[in-house]
Amino acid sequence: MSDSIEFCPEPHARVLTVPAFSDNYLWLIRGADGRQAAVVDPGDAAAIQTVLDSEGLTLAAILLTHHHADHVGGVPALRQAWGCPVFGPRAEAIPGVDHPLDAGDSIRLDALDLQFDVIAVPGHTRGHIAYFTRQLGPDARPALFCGDTLFAGGCGRLFEGTPAQMLDSLDRLAALPGETLVYCAHEYTVSNLTFARAVEPGNQALATRLEQALSRRAEGKATVPGQLAAERATNPFLRADQPSVKAAAAGRLGAAPADTVGSFAAIREWKNVFR
Ligand SMILES: [Zn+2]
Repeated sequence: MSDSIEFCPEPHARVLTVPAFSDNYLWLIRGADGRQAAVVDPGDAAAIQTVLDSEGLTLAAILLTHHHADHVGGVPALRQAWGCPVFGPRAEAIPGVDHPLDAGDSIRLDALDLQFDVIAVPGHTRGHIAYFTRQLGPDARPALFCGDTLFAGGCGRLFEGTPAQMLDSLDRLAALPGETLVYCAHEYTVSNLTFARAVEPGNQALATRLEQALSRRAEGKATVPGQLAAERATNPFLRADQPSVKAAAAGRLGAAPADTVGSFAAIREWKNVFR
């Protein structure tokens, strides 16, 4: 791959960042008409409604990645206010979902000129899905809305799935184009990259990325979206097959991991207890 790496890419002009709770990001995606929007994972209805009001937008669709409350808590109020369709994973029982989705489905929102492919990414939860769009308006870069599966510099905890499932899910996301903007659901980047440095102290791209993330946070700026090529270069959970990460896993296990799943599982468990 010859992707150029950008640690702080310019966000899409059509995606609005809506911070919520202590570290969540809810994503509002403007339609091509500039008047309608879709929302991804509205954990907090009031936070979304405030931005809809200030931007003069109507809500045309709700997209959900998984069932956790900080991702779906705002659905009842927004659905009542807007009567819009609610898309979500068929494999999870989420109240309000009237358009259940399976892996390989596509969504077309014609009025907004939006189209998404649905990618199954079980691991954090059993039915977790991600939404991928090849292009958002005139900006040719693809965008991925991946909930709590792939984070900037890290990955979600395995609440319902196995390490093999999560690794498989992350592999599917890692295969997307390098210039893809990764819209994850939490600002965990500095803590993730601090852990990543413990795994791969010799990774120079990772050192540079952590420095840039620290300075952005010091200025009160978001580190999300990131770029997929940057994840491939610095995120240890996409690098479990690399000799450096396997060596770190061996250090934790006291023996070489049997395979890439073993390497992934060892660093995921390490991250759970890393301070
Ligand atoms: Zn979650």
